[in-house]
Amino acid sequence: MPRAATAKKVQVMPPPVERIASIRVDVDWANVPIAEGRLLYSQLKGEFEKAGKLMNIRENPQDDKYVCFMNGKQGCCKANVVHDGIPRFTDNSHTDKKTGLIQVVKICSELCYHRYNEYRIKERSDRMRPDLNG
Ligand SMILES: [Zn+2]
Repeated sequence: MPRAATAKKVQVMPPPVERIASIRVDVDWANVPIAEGRLLYSQLKGEFEKAGKLMNIRENPQDDKYVCFMNGKQGCCKANVVHDGIPRFTDNSHTDKKTGLIQVVKICSELCYHRYNEYRIKERSDRMRPDLNG
C-alpha cells in the first residue's frame, strides 16, 4: 500500500502572553430564567461600569498639586508656583508644539483661563499662516 507523503504542518504560535486577569462569562443568555438573567446582567453592567471608572482614574491621576500652564506669562500667575487642589480648568486636547504629543493643561484661575484661550486662538491662527509654517 503506497504511503502518501505526509507534510508536517508547522504552526508558529505566538509567545504566551502573561495575563493577570481574564473575563469569563458563563451564562446561557438564551435560556437563563428571566429574573436570574436580569440579576446577572445587572452584575455584569456594574462590573463594566466599575472597570471603566477605575481605568479612567488610573489613566488620569488626579494629583492635587500642579503648576499652571500659563505660569509666568504676561498677566498670569507667577512663574513656577505650585498650586494645591483642583485646577480651575483642564484641557486634555492640547498638543505640545515641541514634542507633538498631547499634553494635559491645568489652569489655576479665571484670569489664566482667559489668557489661555487667547493663546489657543493665536496658536490656531498662526497654524493658518504659511509664512510661519514654511
Ligand atoms: Zn495660572
